[in-house]
Amino acid sequence: MSTILVTGGAGYIGSHACKALAEAGHTPVTFDNLETGWRDAVKFGPFAQGDLLDRARLDEVFAEFQPDAVMHFAALSQVGESMSHPGKYWRNNVAGSLNLIEAAVAAGCKNFVFSSTCATYGDQDNVVLDENSAQYPINAYGASKRAIEDILRDFEASDGLRHVIFRYFNVAGADPDAEVGEFHQPETHLIPLMLDAIDGKRDALTIFGTDYDTPDGTCIRDYVHVCDLVDAHVLGLDWLAHGKESRVFNLGTGSGFSVREVIDHSREVTNREVPFTEGPRRAGDCTKLVSGSTRAEAELGWKPTRSTLKQMITDAWRWHQSGHYDG
Ligand code: UDP
Repeated sequence: MSTILVTGGAGYIGSHACKALAEAGHTPVTFDNLETGWRDAVKFGPFAQGDLLDRARLDEVFAEFQPDAVMHFAALSQVGESMSHPGKYWRNNVAGSLNLIEAAVAAGCKNFVFSSTCATYGDQDNVVLDENSAQYPINAYGASKRAIEDILRDFEASDGLRHVIFRYFNVAGADPDAEVGEFHQPETHLIPLMLDAIDGKRDALTIFGTDYDTPDGTCIRDYVHVCDLVDAHVLGLDWLAHGKESRVFNLGTGSGFSVREVIDHSREVTNREVPFTEGPRRAGDCTKLVSGSTRAEAELGWKPTRSTLKQMITDAWRWHQSGHYDG
């Protein structure tokens, strides 16, 4: 069907997207610098190694593969690190994306699917977070993603770059076949760290902050299964292929779980104790991020099927124990 340039295709979400694209009959071309991605996660189409900051390499890859669309996952995505090293985030995420967008436009590739984040909304008490909510990011990660959303809108006005922006809530789980899964080095995300602690691969999990204004004092997040998330991306491509307008979609389930609730579910799924300690807040964390929108279901026809917390932890645990993972 079509050729899709998948930046970050060797990473956690990108590799799942490549699998979903290949299953839908597309050819996913992975563009990745392998700084945080893994060569052996590129299993579903060609691989082109390169860095978003290298415009000449991007031009070469667009000329070689002539993609019909871009799916842009490649980014630095750690909230804590973005607070201590903001320059890395602005350079890699914003300057890198600008290069990619300019290279795409120059090559005449004007369909663009972008991974944005609920972190662009920031900490808004008692506000239902839908796509029209104001964006007040409180960390450099969220600020860098919001900036890229603005760049996309400007290039639509100047060059007709049509785009779908997905604002992810917290992505979790793994491919049920365990062909690909989550593996960050270093790992900073709650569920994989928790599974490591359960497995004795790491020290106890530290809960970052127990004094938030939530029922149990810990942060609340809306977890969405990576397979459901990438299904939405395939629908986003179809949306653009049918000539529909550029659009923003939240990708979340609308249900929030606290850190303590995630611990309880993990204990239940694995039938093991979760060693944890209570620590101070992590800089940049919002109290509560839960999607308040069903636009993706209503307009894209998105139907999440695996996004219960229990299923996400079950799939992550299967991947964790699959032997692919050596965290
Ligand atoms: N979290 C935690 N301990 C950890 C890692 C994360 O308590 O070792 C908390 C974090 O403060 C947040 C939630 O788990 O409230 C999800 O964090 P994660 O880093 O997985 O995703 P983020 O929300 O930052 O995108």
